Amino acid sequence: MVYNELRKDYLLNRWVVIAIERSRRPTDFAKQKTEQANSSVCPLCVGNEHLTPPAVLLYLKQNGATEKSRDHDGARTKNWLVRVIPNLYPAFAPPKNSADQEQVMKSESYGYAIGHHEVLVESPNHDEDPADAELPQLTLLINAYIDRLRELSAKPYVQYVSIFRNYGRDAGASLSHAHSQMIATPSVPRIPAEELAASKKFYDQHQKCVFCDIIKKETKSPRLVLDNQHFVVFAPYASVHPLEFWILPKKHAMNPLSLSKAEIEALAETLKTSLRALKDLVNDPPYNYGFHISINRDAENYYHWHLEVYPRLSIWAGFEKNTGMYINTVKPETSAAELRKIIQAKLAEPLSRILV
Ligand SMILES: [Zn+2]
Ligand SMILES: [Zn+2]
Ligand SMILES: [Zn+2]
Repeated sequence: MVYNELRKDYLLNRWVVIAIERSRRPTDFAKQKTEQANSSVCPLCVGNEHLTPPAVLLYLKQNGATEKSRDHDGARTKNWLVRVIPNLYPAFAPPKNSADQEQVMKSESYGYAIGHHEVLVESPNHDEDPADAELPQLTLLINAYIDRLRELSAKPYVQYVSIFRNYGRDAGASLSHAHSQMIATPSVPRIPAEELAASKKFYDQHQKCVFCDIIKKETKSPRLVLDNQHFVVFAPYASVHPLEFWILPKKHAMNPLSLSKAEIEALAETLKTSLRALKDLVNDPPYNYGFHISINRDAENYYHWHLEVYPRLSIWAGFEKNTGMYINTVKPETSAAELRKIIQAKLAEPLSRILV
């Protein structure tokens, strides 16, 4: 009798059972696509800007160059490449007066949901999702993440900014037009807070960044998916999802605000390559991705931003909901090997075409 493995996350007190007895190949999860015909008007498509609030940030095509702008006086600009708008039904809304801004929490267990909730329309093309996006367009999107992060994180009542993306209806995307979201909150939510506390503890004990250590370890492990000049992609040791992977920058930084132009382009390419591999491997599954960052200057030395991608391939049931302990039926080592294989086959493609 071989026991299943119990693995703990690098930092969080989160355990996962790697259920090798029921072990499945990642490709077992490939689902037949059910086309969801959607005849209703897409409010994020070009020409329908009047259906959404005025943009707080626009990247415009201007004589071959890209220019930054925003909507003015109720008018809606049309020749945009990326469009950032306030969410029509925001979970967090800006403060109405300065008193609100100073006192968000009214007691230890009650406060106002003050902050910002924005939608980033990634492309004028309805279906230009990251796995299929042109690299210059995806680079613009990452620039938009950074521009909005810079503005929102400077507000006195903002303690955290979550940048995330839902892909596919089963992952929570209510609109199918390529879009990401950003939510700025007046407190640091639980998971980033736990990561921050644990990485601070590690730094205090060892005088180094735990994530820099993880990068060193995982680039030599069987969980490695991709390793390039600026980024490393791997399936985390205690993955809770089949085919879960994380993207970490090699340059130590607590958030992406300090990325260079070359690094932003490299992030676009790394993100596209890994999401494309996921799409090809299991027939375009739904997924969520999110950045983990810090905007607290104190964290500069000990926190290291990263992007976590969670494919929605298994449905969590009672045990996960009930306990916060997870069961993953695909070993992260197997997930990484399958993703690696697809990426390497892609890399070899142009060469094989030349040889033929
Ligand atoms: Zn659309
Ligand atoms: Zn680091
Ligand atoms: Zn994280």
